[in-house]
Amino acid sequence: MALYELTIREARALLRKGEITSVELTRAVLERIEALDAKVRAYLTVTPELALEQAKAADARRAAGEDTPLLGIPMAIKDVICTKGVETTCGSRILKGFVPPYDATVIAKLRAAGAVLLGKTNTDEFAMGSSTENSGYFTTHNPWDLTRVPGGSSGGSAAAVAAGEALAALGSDTGGSVRQPAAFCGVAGIKPTYGRVSRYGLVAFASSLDQIGAFGREVADVASVLGIIAGYDPRDSTSVNVPVPNYEEALMPDIRGMRIGIPKEYFVEGIQPGVEKALREAIRTLEGLGAVVDEVSLPHTSYALPAYYLIAPAEASANLARYDGVKYGLSIPGETMWDGYRNTRGQGFGPEVKRRIMLGTYALSAGYYDAYYLKAQKVRTLIKQDFDKAFERFDALVTPTTPMVAFKIGEKIADPLSMYLTDIFTLAPSLAGICGMVVPCGMADGMPVGMQILTGAFQEPTALRVAYAYEQATEWHKLRPPLDGKVEDKEVMRQ
Ligand code: GLN
Repeated sequence: MALYELTIREARALLRKGEITSVELTRAVLERIEALDAKVRAYLTVTPELALEQAKAADARRAAGEDTPLLGIPMAIKDVICTKGVETTCGSRILKGFVPPYDATVIAKLRAAGAVLLGKTNTDEFAMGSSTENSGYFTTHNPWDLTRVPGGSSGGSAAAVAAGEALAALGSDTGGSVRQPAAFCGVAGIKPTYGRVSRYGLVAFASSLDQIGAFGREVADVASVLGIIAGYDPRDSTSVNVPVPNYEEALMPDIRGMRIGIPKEYFVEGIQPGVEKALREAIRTLEGLGAVVDEVSLPHTSYALPAYYLIAPAEASANLARYDGVKYGLSIPGETMWDGYRNTRGQGFGPEVKRRIMLGTYALSAGYYDAYYLKAQKVRTLIKQDFDKAFERFDALVTPTTPMVAFKIGEKIADPLSMYLTDIFTLAPSLAGICGMVVPCGMADGMPVGMQILTGAFQEPTALRVAYAYEQATEWHKLRPPLDGKVEDKEVMRQ
């Protein structure tokens, strides 16, 4: 087995035994990036020298007797997370050349744990999108089929992990941006409870929804990363001071007696038959493991999409006001100050970001605030109450992650509404602020299908446990995209 194929758990065992060094492991992953990334295009920036320096330091720390779950493990970081000294663009032209003077809290924690940072991964501009096609730079390709999208907005991170271009990665999830690409690329991913992970240094899209999450090739790897990045941070007033449990201890294959609810609103008409079939089989597997499965209703589910597309753009319109050509990145001066704003924002932002700023500004404007924004906030409360009620009866809920498998590049980009619909199953949990975990649970049309496991606030251990038990009972997580050999022959759409 090539070193870049190792899971964190496997790599850690070899590093501990001294059979490999972090420098060897990091070099293998960097070579993989070198060989593949012209096709996959997962990375916006690769920092090989820095990565090798960090790997060397990790080996030295290990030699001195140190050990952490991520010591010497090569990881990728979504480009919406600030990395000191390394360009952070958020996939936007407006931040081209922006080099943060500080590290996000999650980055500081990864560094302290001795993780090796390989570079920054592609994303839809400011994390607005579901395919990476809204990136201001290029589109990432799905490692399972290079003519398809990897999902988004954390598509670069998911593709990197699936392709062996990183052992694990950080993403961010506002309405599905970790879970949807994890499902599309056949990897595990977690969107923790809102407040579980510090947002300090995560460039804001919609502040009441944004949460940093993790990708890995197996559930245990996601648990390891979450264990390092989670926790209260005085620099983020929305992070919550709840003790961080040992997530690796939650990984028990026994879910006998666990109560699992199946929300009937998530098995609607229009869902791709192969996706539904995979989910139904996965649910039977959970039953076979001893879970007690029953149907449940979340009656306000259909309002999640309109509520999200008012709240998220409203918050985005305020958050993105700071890009004025004065403080950060791109600056195109004009005759007057207003011309300067118009030039910088007009040329720096792409069409989807402009659409969201306009939607959000409209929804917040004096005459429409009550009709749109306030109403959406009330709907949000109803959605949260649906989940609160369901979690009185159930330990976890299981749903499809997306109604379809990864679609073709170009298929939905001209029709924003059909793009928004790809997140229909991930939006409500985001509005409720709860935890969502994704694991591969089948294949349809030659592409991976992901199961979404939802648990109440701060119930990450339960989500991880269900995911782990399912994973141990199945083989889906062992499938790898057919990149080797085939990749050279395939005609790739380059943008
Ligand atoms: N696709 C959704 C959107 O476009 C969610 C994005 C996200 O979670 N960052 O807003």
